[in-house]
Amino acid sequence: GAPEGRTFFGHPWGLATLFFTEMWERFSFYGLRAILILFLIAPPSESGLGMAEGTAKALLGVYMSMVYFVALPGGWVADRILGARKAVLVGGFVIMLGHISMAIPAGAGFVYLGLALIILGTGLLKPNISTMVGKLYVGEDSARRDSAFSLFYMGINIGSLAPFVVGYLGQNINWHLGFGAAAVGMGLGLVQYVLGGKHLRGVGDEPGHRLTPEERTRFLRIFTAVVAVVIAIVLIAIATDTLTVDAVTVALTVLAIVVPVVYFGYMFRSHEVSADERVKLRAYVWLFLAAALFWMIFDQAAGPLNIFANDNTNLSVFGWDMPASWTQNINPILVICFSAFFAWLWLRLGDRASTGMKFGVALVLSGLSFVVMSLASHATHGGTVKVSLLWLVAVYLLQTLGELCLSPVGLSVTTRLAPAAFASQMMGVWFLATAAGDAVGGQVARLQHAWGDVTYFLVLGLFSVVAGVVLFLFVKSLRRLMGEGRELIVTRH
Ligand code: GLN
Repeated sequence: GAPEGRTFFGHPWGLATLFFTEMWERFSFYGLRAILILFLIAPPSESGLGMAEGTAKALLGVYMSMVYFVALPGGWVADRILGARKAVLVGGFVIMLGHISMAIPAGAGFVYLGLALIILGTGLLKPNISTMVGKLYVGEDSARRDSAFSLFYMGINIGSLAPFVVGYLGQNINWHLGFGAAAVGMGLGLVQYVLGGKHLRGVGDEPGHRLTPEERTRFLRIFTAVVAVVIAIVLIAIATDTLTVDAVTVALTVLAIVVPVVYFGYMFRSHEVSADERVKLRAYVWLFLAAALFWMIFDQAAGPLNIFANDNTNLSVFGWDMPASWTQNINPILVICFSAFFAWLWLRLGDRASTGMKFGVALVLSGLSFVVMSLASHATHGGTVKVSLLWLVAVYLLQTLGELCLSPVGLSVTTRLAPAAFASQMMGVWFLATAAGDAVGGQVARLQHAWGDVTYFLVLGLFSVVAGVVLFLFVKSLRRLMGEGRELIVTRH
């Protein structure tokens, strides 16, 4: 960035603009996420949609999945058509429209429309704002960039404290007022982005590889064909009476699994990927799978854990019952408390802590968090006793420590292992791990009803612990594939 005298914690002012925009975007996202399932399953007498719990969990899983899934096309649109700067602006506006739609208390139609708009808008905003952070530091040393990403992750988590506002309004006053507050938050983010735009001049103004006229024609043709096929499928489903929420969640879950498989296959076969890059990509596939499993467990916070807070936890503080959605603030609070420590720890451990090791630790910790959930469920005596809030604090503490081993590390390793030809789309590939994990997680959560809470959390938790231990066995091989410990050639950021 250009020296302007004053700085933002030693960083260019452009980072402040991106920090606050993403903070408000996450405010709207995590605000809604904290009350969505409670709204979906609340009976109509409590102004909810009265949805079956299994369906609601799958819908929530697929919604979160799609929010991250569209990062891939969203990155592509910025790189080929809009440029990152405009993509973030358009995306933020569409997200705000989505929350406004949710705020209209006129039935399920406006809810589905709202969720769809939020998904589309986030695809344009989330991957591209992260890429813009990296672009502020082109040609600078990686320590400053890492520091910028840590600060940025902090902004994300300050925004994620939204349930204090959105959760209170939504649960204690009116669901749609809560959704409206999320819209106001995104609106503030947009105003701030426009006003602070002067600090971002030259950052993502132009698409990296603008489509040639022939490519544009071909793109429009393919795009139209895909839209036509989707419309045809939906019409057939309506005609045969098979268009149910459950059917849609299953179809999108299949999509969230198939697309990463196809995309990795495509990268492996691409002539633009060198033999060296292919080796790194092989390492990345394992990290990708680990990340998908991690997010599958972690993002159950919004569904099963949130319902547990609502039904089985004693929420009384100083004689006042706090809204259950406030438990969704525990994770961001802990992230804010611990991120400085982790930044220090990684510097301290340096080479000794490899990426594979960190991902393995993350899986073990998230797995243990579900073992604790299983114990907490046991302590409810079949749902007859409300347990202490400290159970959830312990669960979220384990998960947060895991998150800090995996999430920021994942962002940076993604940019490091990206084949040069796919550099601009690699952020989207990273978010595909969350997409696959969340969609599968939403379906898996249906088992909770059949198995009972104690077994459900125990099985998932042990699965994740075992996966983490298996990853430990391959730490050395991963290191070799990734070329870690040797000097790394940074291809992009
Ligand atoms: N909590 C982070 C965010 O919202 C990480 C999300 C993810 O990568 N799955 O940006």
